[in-house]
Amino acid sequence: MMVLTKKMIEIRSILQTVGQGNTLTLPSIVVIGSQSSGKSSVLEAIVGHEFLPKGSNMVTRRPIELTLVNTPDAQAEYGEFPALGLGKITDFSHIQRTLTELNLAVPDSECVSDDPIQLTISSPHVPDLSLIDLPGYIQVVGHNQPLELKQKISDLCDKYIQPPNVILAISAADVDLANSTALRASRRVDPRGERTIGVVTKMDLVDATRGASILSDRKYPLRLGYVGVVSKVPTQSSSLWKKGSGGIATAISKNEHNYFSAHPLEFGPDAGVAVGTTTLRKKLMQVLEQTMAASLQTTGDAIRQELEEATYEFKVQYNDRPLSAESYLAESLDAFKHSFKEFTESFGRPQVREMLKEELDQRVLDLLAARYWNKPVTNLSPAPPELDSLADLPTADPESLYWHRKLDASSSALTKLGIGRLATTVVANAIQAHVDRLIAQSTFASHPFARQAITEAASGILNERFYSTSDQVENCIKPYKFEIDVEDGEWARGRENVSEVLRYELRACEDAVKSVEKTVGGRRKLKDVMSFVDKARKGEVEVVGDGASGAGGFSSDLLQRGKEAIFLRDRATLLQMRLAALKSKQCAKKENRYYCPEIFLDVVATKLTSTAVLFLNVELLSEFYYNFPRELDVRLGRGLSKEEVERFAKEDPKVKGHLEVIRRKELLELVLEKMEGLKALDIEERGKRAMH
Ligand code: GDP
Repeated sequence: MMVLTKKMIEIRSILQTVGQGNTLTLPSIVVIGSQSSGKSSVLEAIVGHEFLPKGSNMVTRRPIELTLVNTPDAQAEYGEFPALGLGKITDFSHIQRTLTELNLAVPDSECVSDDPIQLTISSPHVPDLSLIDLPGYIQVVGHNQPLELKQKISDLCDKYIQPPNVILAISAADVDLANSTALRASRRVDPRGERTIGVVTKMDLVDATRGASILSDRKYPLRLGYVGVVSKVPTQSSSLWKKGSGGIATAISKNEHNYFSAHPLEFGPDAGVAVGTTTLRKKLMQVLEQTMAASLQTTGDAIRQELEEATYEFKVQYNDRPLSAESYLAESLDAFKHSFKEFTESFGRPQVREMLKEELDQRVLDLLAARYWNKPVTNLSPAPPELDSLADLPTADPESLYWHRKLDASSSALTKLGIGRLATTVVANAIQAHVDRLIAQSTFASHPFARQAITEAASGILNERFYSTSDQVENCIKPYKFEIDVEDGEWARGRENVSEVLRYELRACEDAVKSVEKTVGGRRKLKDVMSFVDKARKGEVEVVGDGASGAGGFSSDLLQRGKEAIFLRDRATLLQMRLAALKSKQCAKKENRYYCPEIFLDVVATKLTSTAVLFLNVELLSEFYYNFPRELDVRLGRGLSKEEVERFAKEDPKVKGHLEVIRRKELLELVLEKMEGLKALDIEERGKRAMH
């Protein structure tokens, strides 16, 4: 029963997925031979298909690790390149083409590469075997081939013919065995001939007597013996087997059988020599099975050691903490949703109100500056006399229609600002910014995929809600566009609030002056420039042109700073003046709104804010707070495939390392368990054999 090889091959493929295929090698049969010794023909006879690259010029440039898997219950025969992910290939000429391409991908300058190609062939007609095909030895280096090629091939083969591998040394019958490069190489690493099988090809090319004498060779004795084969595909039947499904196996074995049975004396059952591809196959299976059995102990030890290392790494680096890609994602998502929940509790109506009011306060200041406090300092030419000094600012006459219109127009400008759009934009931007901050503080920060998914989830909902929210808000503030009633309480609060705003503005102004002072290099210097600019504006000093190239001994840059400082100074004076006005008795009464446009506009802004907040809360905040976590579940939870979850988790190198060590540990444990089972089986088999 040949179960061991099959199971060991399974184990090897598991080990390869752990990335331990290189350190933990299970025995293979390594095929070596000179070019044209018939190496490919032997391999193809074993597989029963033509699948190896053909051609005159160095066709095998990389080792081919060929795994044959016997699938007794299946019909189909197919090959797979596990590293390429091409799936199952049932057309063997496709396999041949792929191998040719892979070989030709090795540049001519290198000629051979020791990077192996992995190929698995599954079929009911192949035995379970693990074979490695190597580039054929060459005698003479061809032109346009590197001189060291001969040595390179030899070194590559030497790497593979080490124990515990079995060597399949191919020699052609029409070449003296003493000249066989394969046997010479094998003797170097296996001097007592204990793990070498000799294959003599082209038996049909020498006469039967001589053929038989080669096979019973005593000069180069091999414990595993020689097998003679005729593995050339008979030409006349080639068109037949190509069409048939069974491959070339039948044609070869018929041809071979015909040849050997034609010489019963030399090759018959009593001749004491081993011949035929079938015999060779059986021998390979037996030898590999025995070698596998012999390596059970050492391989088991090696795996146990690997496992110990993985266990140690798991303990030391990851504290034995269990982790899976799924649990990692679920935990990260939970934590994120939790932090979002916290955010929703801290960002409600009061916060939205404050944000919005601040935004409108700025608009009110802009309006006041444009319509009431207008006194620009833009150039050095004399200013218009009516705006020359702040004292000249016109005083409002409550009876005058002019001042009524002015206030109406200002409040209109505010209500028709497009509050719906403005308010929605401000809040939506704030939410998006908060979400970005939450991402940056979460485990998702190191996961580009998740970051994008979350950002898109947020902007998706916000975009979807944008127009209806902004329409709703706009609709609801509509009445204010026509009439604004002000109550005493509102007036008082407005007075307080706008004073606060102006005080804040004043501080900002003073700070700005200080920073200009710093940039010009001190208060004195700034004063000098300012007084020059003042004089220029009053026409007391002559300035040529607009002062672009400097004036009065000051550089143009300095003059610019001077103008800035004067603007700020005037603004500060103005703010102080308005603050004084707000404090005055006149501004205490709402009836005097024409004296105090600041208060009136603040009241309007407050009304607009309150109404907007009401609808923003319902239309945007609540909707967002409800939908966002659900959207996250879809995009990062249920919606992801297993592979996506895996890919996500491994974006973080630490998590990747953690997951990989766990996986390695699990797989090694699995392998070890299987190995223990195999050992028990092997012992049982031996016991049975001993009983018989
Ligand atoms: P490789 O270079 O060692 O892989 O050798 P191939 O398998 O390509 O064989 C080289 C040549 O020898 C090809 O033309 C084969 O058809 C031929 N050949 C292989 N085996 C036999 C055989 O058993 N008998 C005869 N007569 N020719 C063979």
